[in-house]
Amino acid sequence: MSRIGFLGLGIMGKAMALNLVKAGFDVTVWNRDSHKCDELVEQGARVAATPKAVAQVCDITFAMVADPQAALAICQGENGVAAGIAEGRGYVDMSTVDDTTSLEIANAITHAGGRFLEAPVSGTKKPAEDGTLVILAAGDESLYQQAKPAFDVMGKMAPYLGAIGQGANMKLVVNMIMGGMLNIFSEGMALGQKSGLDGQAILDVLAAGAMANPMFTIKGKMCLEDNYATSFPLKHMQKDLRLAVALGDKLDQPLPTAAATNEAFKQAKKAGYADEDIAAVHKINR
Ligand code: NAP
Repeated sequence: MSRIGFLGLGIMGKAMALNLVKAGFDVTVWNRDSHKCDELVEQGARVAATPKAVAQVCDITFAMVADPQAALAICQGENGVAAGIAEGRGYVDMSTVDDTTSLEIANAITHAGGRFLEAPVSGTKKPAEDGTLVILAAGDESLYQQAKPAFDVMGKMAPYLGAIGQGANMKLVVNMIMGGMLNIFSEGMALGQKSGLDGQAILDVLAAGAMANPMFTIKGKMCLEDNYATSFPLKHMQKDLRLAVALGDKLDQPLPTAAATNEAFKQAKKAGYADEDIAAVHKINR
């Protein structure tokens, strides 16, 4: 069985790496804040001192970090993945980034002799824990085939989407739609409640019609209970909206609704809700 590396043990990475350990893979982990490795080590993972040290000993190294800046930081430099990857080894970055960042990482890895796949995911903390993520893979097809047994542990579906950029763009489109839905949902809830409607009655009516979806049900309950325990940090959704709007700029595609949604999430960040769940965008509306 392949030796697997995992970089980035935040909300998502920790759950994904834990599932790989539980499935019997030989996993070596690294996280910037090394304390977050402790639970994985207790469960049987090895730990290495740098991303380079992980890539040096693993057949495939996976990464799940915050944003483009973090994804580049763990790949580049004297302690980065590119410095440790050897001929034929694989690097799979599952972080949500833009296509330009993904291409930059792909170039650094292939220049060093490695193979690269981008594989951002759709699904939040619970699907990561349950191993039911949707994995959006693009890049080196031989690495996709080699990584498939690990994808099967982390996700319920892992389509191969083609060239580098196709996975990143698919992920940004999905999250742009999700952010927009959540923002207008939150405005609707706020308007309804201000006009005297019962919040639960609004959720029940929505759930009975063509707009029924798990997100309105789950995030709606959080809004009514004023409990924004973090599954998907609000700051990361704002990052995704910013990257989607930038992609629209690059392609000359007007995105007026996404741009307004990005501003709402920026406002929520400024109001102090960056590390709360995305549902906390409701707090600027209510
Ligand atoms: P998170 O809990 O905030 O974890 C972020 C991870 O990135 C941590 O391991 C953090 O390390 C690391 N990191 C941040 N800046 C870094 C840097 N400069 N150098 C090295 N490591 C750095 O985030 P998350 O929710 O797991 O999300 C991770 C990625 O998945 C993001 O791209 C997000 O957009 C995407 N995503 C999240 C969800 C979700 O529902 N949560 C769903 C789909 C996709 P430290 O522990 O040292 O800070």
